[in-house]
Amino acid sequence: MSLLSVTGLEAAYGAAPALFGVDLDIAAGEVVTLLGRNGMGKTTTVRTIMGLVASTAGRVTFRGKDVTNAPPYEIARLGIGLVPEGRQIFPTLSVEENLIATATRRPGGRGTPWTLDEVYRFLPRLADRKRNLGAQLSGGEQQMLAIGRALMTNPSLLILDEATEGLAPLIRAEIWERLAALKAEGQGILLIDKNIDAMLALADRHVMLSNGRAVWTGTSAGLAEDRSVIDRYLHLGGTTE
Ligand code: ATP
Repeated sequence: MSLLSVTGLEAAYGAAPALFGVDLDIAAGEVVTLLGRNGMGKTTTVRTIMGLVASTAGRVTFRGKDVTNAPPYEIARLGIGLVPEGRQIFPTLSVEENLIATATRRPGGRGTPWTLDEVYRFLPRLADRKRNLGAQLSGGEQQMLAIGRALMTNPSLLILDEATEGLAPLIRAEIWERLAALKAEGQGILLIDKNIDAMLALADRHVMLSNGRAVWTGTSAGLAEDRSVIDRYLHLGGTTE
């Protein structure tokens, strides 16, 4: 069954259109990426799915329910957990307070609800820092906290927007490894990142955006075979950031 279904999604910032028709499907437990160069509409797609940007046309369905232009809190409550670009953790709350601030007990993508203890076991760096304020954490720790905070909402779909951006290689590797562990537990994930090789290794499918439109979709195997799609739409040539 489709977990998230986005069809013909259009959105604008004031009078300036940004999305011109995005189609995207994620099944339960599937890992899908949104690819595309800077400014092509990846973050806008995520923000429109979450109800943070108003859509002007198209439809977003989550777990069979039409959530097009529903308020963000309702979408979060239905089971989409966002790890936003720039992390946006609460700087003046402790790690533990950040984790419990938005927690819910609803069963999510992996069946068993997350608890504080489980999040600490899953992300041990947070256990070491639980009494520290958000602002006192390193960038990598803040990113782990943003992930832990999203998990505490027990999402059926976890969306990560540039979760490894600006981090040192070691902590990036740790995040990719944690995401693989979540996938193994059946967590549905929508991912935006610049590390194409890590995404090919982790994800089931990919959706390429160009100028606010979904222009290509396919599996990791399909993308690995047809690197011209990467050259044409990303100009990365398979390099990692
Ligand atoms: P990046 O990797 O740079 O975040 P992206 O693919 O996520 O890129 P978006 O941030 O979604 O792209 O941007 C899509 C388009 O919308 C761009 O033309 C961008 O300039 C525009 N845009 C994004 N945010 C705003 C905003 N707050 N106000 C006006 N225009 C915006």
